[in-house]
Amino acid sequence: MKRKRALQLQEEWSDKPCPHPAFAKEYDLGKRTGNFVCTQCGSTLTFREKGQLMASRRSPEPSPDE
Ligand SMILES: [Zn+2]
Repeated sequence: MKRKRALQLQEEWSDKPCPHPAFAKEYDLGKRTGNFVCTQCGSTLTFREKGQLMASRRSPEPSPDE
């Protein structure tokens, strides 16, 4: 998803809560930014933030190793 489109989504979604059900890779000026965009609300998450979100969904308890 292009960054411009993500910003549009953010405006449309406003500040409602979003469970971030699906992500798309973020592109800006034709290049990957390395970030991910929620396809529902347009929020930008870094690779790390997305990873943490996915990990927290897989297991409700935080891992003691991390
Ligand atoms: Zn979202």
